[in-house]
Parts: sequence; structure tokens; C-alpha cells
Amino acid sequence: MLSQKYPFVLPPLGYANTAVEPAVDARTMSVHHDLHHAAYVNNLNAALKTQTTLHDRSLGELLMGLRRWPEGVRTAIRNNGGGHANHALFWKLLSPGGADASIPSGRLAEMITRDFETVEACKAALKEAAMGQFGSGWAWLVKTATSRLAIRALPNQDSPLLEGELPIVGIDVWEHAYYLKYQNRRADYVDALLARINWTVAGDQVV
Ligand code: MN
Repeated sequence: MLSQKYPFVLPPLGYANTAVEPAVDARTMSVHHDLHHAAYVNNLNAALKTQTTLHDRSLGELLMGLRRWPEGVRTAIRNNGGGHANHALFWKLLSPGGADASIPSGRLAEMITRDFETVEACKAALKEAAMGQFGSGWAWLVKTATSRLAIRALPNQDSPLLEGELPIVGIDVWEHAYYLKYQNRRADYVDALLARINWTVAGDQVV
């Protein structure tokens, strides 16, 4: 997905709107993907339409190199490019068809043991970041520039890539991600989501 270039396209969910119930209800899933994510894609394309020098840049390059692009388009790339990249990963990280039995393996498992000791401690740190994010944003498990795992709480649609860090797991804590089903019970949403993370997909992000 990070290799996608202008014009950007909304990736399909890859599963039915009901596939991640009960953690994510079908209505939230369809509104979130079909309307919110689509809007980030459409707004990114609109902002870049006349920026022809950026049309050969990938989504990953646009985010990692933000400071190098014309000032007038930076906010749009940050918000809508970030929104596109963040959500494209988010859909893949969710396990369709019931509680996920996957556990971190390979390189990711080694890094979690080194940097958090246990998977449970890593999940607890992610939850703490998700709960502590004031207002709209995401909690992230990232790989830093020095190849450590770290937890970040980032506002709005800021991608870890803006700071040269690789997103591994993202928890969307915008109210649009959970309010229809959970209202103000963010902790319940985060718990349910963490139980549905596909750690095989997360492991694929560690390159
Ligand atoms: Mn979202």
C-alpha cells in the first residue's frame, strides 16, 4: 500500500462488513471504510491534482519526506495521506472470522521479548497509549530508526512515517472507529480490538 502512487485508490476491506463482529459492528465497519477512509483518499487526490511533480512519489515517500514538499500541500498530505496509509494497514491488521489465534512469531516475537519482555506487556502498553490519547488519534506499535519497538500516541492522522518510524500495529481511537457501538467505553473497544489483531500481518510489517 505504501508503494501506491497518485491517483490513490481505496483498497477493499478484504472481508465482509460483519467479519470482525462483535469487536467491530457492521455499521461502524462500513461507515469507517466506505466513507471515512474513502474521504481521505478523495481529499488526497484532490490536493495532489495540480502537484504534478509529486505524482511519481509513493505514499510512503510522500509521508516520510513531508518537509521537502511544497508548503501549501503538506497539511493535506499529513492528514489525508496519513489517513489513507493508517487505515489501509488497520483493515489488514484485523482478523476476520472470530478471535484470532495468531501470536507474534519470528523477528517480531524476538523484538517484543527484547523490548517488552512479554506480548501481554506490549498489549498493555498499547492500551495505555490508546486510553491516554486526548481527542482524535491513534496508538501505535512502531519500529524506530534504531530498530527498537516503541509505543507512540499520535494525534489526528499523523503517521509514524512522518518521523521515520515504521508502523507495526495501529489502534484507531477516533470516535468514528467505535462510538456507534461503544459510545464512551473506549477501554472496551480497545480490549476487543487487541483480541482481534492478526499478529502474522503485524510481523509482516517488520522489515
Ligand atoms: Mn479511522
